[in-house]
Amino acid sequence: MRLKPTLAALATAMAALAAPGVATAQQKFVTIGTGGVTGVYYAAGGAICRLMNMDRARHGIRCSVESTGGSVFNINTIKAGELDFGVAQSDWQFHAMNGTKVFEKDGKHSDLRAVFSLHPEPFTVLARKEANITKLEDLKGKRFNIGNPGSGTRASAEELMNALGWKTSDLALAAELKADEHGPALCDNKIDAFIFGVGHPSANIQDPITTCGARLVPLTGPVIDKLVKDHPYYASVRIPGGLYPGHPNPTPTYGVMATFVTSAKVPEATVYEMVKAVFERIEDFKKLHPAFGGLDPKDMIKNGLSAPLHPGAVRYYKEKGWM
Ligand code: GLU
Repeated sequence: MRLKPTLAALATAMAALAAPGVATAQQKFVTIGTGGVTGVYYAAGGAICRLMNMDRARHGIRCSVESTGGSVFNINTIKAGELDFGVAQSDWQFHAMNGTKVFEKDGKHSDLRAVFSLHPEPFTVLARKEANITKLEDLKGKRFNIGNPGSGTRASAEELMNALGWKTSDLALAAELKADEHGPALCDNKIDAFIFGVGHPSANIQDPITTCGARLVPLTGPVIDKLVKDHPYYASVRIPGGLYPGHPNPTPTYGVMATFVTSAKVPEATVYEMVKAVFERIEDFKKLHPAFGGLDPKDMIKNGLSAPLHPGAVRYYKEKGWM
């Protein structure tokens, strides 16, 4: 007989869940596409949603984060209308706008809109300490993870390979592991090195350094110099020294910016609330991940952005007198 009241209670609870409640009827949902859970995009999406959701009672928007394959996936999925926002490398924002490189087949993504930029993303090569890889050329003939299709890293790694005149057959293995898998694969001796366009410091880079003594490899030389000179979205950068054990000196390389993008189809009010949530509490935002420490609003509203700013972002930046 004890079962009956339990079932009845359950039925009542289920009926309550199924009925459209007053609070949920007004609720709007937005989703941010990020990257692997060990990367900085996932933390960025989480930080943006956290600030956005603090004001949910006022604006009625519930923000959530999705772990994805990375930049190119996010841009394509925004175009398909299945994500509202996404984090993407500035080089792939540029190519999506122009319908070039990996976006050539689908043409210009004319609805792509910029919201703001985030942290710098140096292209980061990490190698096993036993692999004797101390410079770019040493990667030839090695087991190298070039990243999963859909990641910005992968698309940028292909540009690097093209510039070097290397084919995948020049590597002993061109692995396609996701960012969450490459550190464990490195320490398990399944690959000799991986490349990742990522903000610093990042747990994704820290873990293999502390677990198996992996080493950062500089990306320098005439091929890199030419890449940077020929493309507006690349810059020479250094991974600062002192961020990771055993790496007291800066590591020179080149890189891009992480940017936050959306579609022209996302309502102005939604984008306005999102940028307001971030910039009204920018000091809190900067504390949510160490890679955000150097962010400065006056750079964030212009650096690395090639798509037009979304009107909701423009409205907020004008209100602040920033443009
Ligand atoms: N830049 C990377 C990509 O799109 C993702 C970096 C991250 O997850 O922090 O492939």
